[in-house]
Amino acid sequence: MNLLLIRLILFAVIFIAGLKLYRMYREWKLDREGPSEGDNVQGNRMVRCSWCQVHLPEDDALRERGDWFCSGDHRDKYLAEQKEEPKEEKREEPQEEKPQDSNDEQNDKRGE
Ligand SMILES: [Zn+2]
Repeated sequence: MNLLLIRLILFAVIFIAGLKLYRMYREWKLDREGPSEGDNVQGNRMVRCSWCQVHLPEDDALRERGDWFCSGDHRDKYLAEQKEEPKEEKREEPQEEKPQDSNDEQNDKRGE
């Protein structure tokens, strides 16, 4: 009976030790393989089209002046709009000064 108990404990200890070793091995393996996986993630970096805001992989995107685009069409549209922006600056048109009727009315009333 005692022998069986000792065997059980021994088995448990070996099992736990093996589990710990297996975990350590996995962590060590992940540490070694980590950097290469990181490179893959960077290669598939997602960027956003500056025109339609759609997300797409960096590899499929077009880059222009620091902005990303999903297609040449959207790049052209975006750049065209950027060029037009200065033209769209609204000139502050001087508002025509309204004749000050109120003063005249007051004057008329005083005259009466
Ligand atoms: Zn787009």
